[in-house]
Amino acid sequence: MKKIKLLSFDLDDTLWLSKPVIQRAEQVFYSYLTTIAPALVERFSPESLRAHRLDFLKRHPKFAHQISQWRIASLTEALELCGYKEKSANIAREAFAHFIAARQQVTLFPYCENVIRELSQNYMLISLTNGNADLNQQPVGQYFHANFQAEHVNAAKPEPALFLKALDIAGCKPEEAIHIGDHIVDDISGAKALGFFTIQACLKPDSPEPHALSDEQFNDWRELPSKIEQLEQILP
Ligand SMILES: [Mg+2]
Repeated sequence: MKKIKLLSFDLDDTLWLSKPVIQRAEQVFYSYLTTIAPALVERFSPESLRAHRLDFLKRHPKFAHQISQWRIASLTEALELCGYKEKSANIAREAFAHFIAARQQVTLFPYCENVIRELSQNYMLISLTNGNADLNQQPVGQYFHANFQAEHVNAAKPEPALFLKALDIAGCKPEEAIHIGDHIVDDISGAKALGFFTIQACLKPDSPEPHALSDEQFNDWRELPSKIEQLEQILP
């Protein structure tokens, strides 16, 4: 009988490298705008459109944990500034649809899918992301019991809401759960503060040093099952 019941997983930079995915999604987003909203592209470069989005958030902090709505609302405003008037909201939604479709085009880290499949036979797997990747659209999503985004609970890691959601679904205590993620604050400190065990994913070329609060670390997905096993063995 396993003492650990729940494995919660971060997504970006834990299941895949996020930078190339975001870069490509941004390119798809902007090139779609080039075709549908030339006056916007004339006024905003990719960089100044991003600066506008950040400025929009300062003026509308309610979008802080609603990153999809934030992108749509800020683009709507930018389009209005360029004279698109009542068409702005529709154009923004269409451009976002292109962005979010590209956002799902991820390449899993080597061995990730095999290990996930194997782990799903013994544990409940739940994904917890601050981003807007949707695991339900990935083949690997079939091994997960549930997938939650910060947008669903209007709170991002390291705040407790996403972690508590996973514990609630799994019906287990934090000491029966391991959170696996790359970010030392959002993932490791956030989960540890609630009493989860933590395993730090050190998979990107510029991964930070293992955090003192992480119980284990891995830099190859094939190592993960034995790291989990080691934590099982120290439990009473
Ligand atoms: Mg991450």
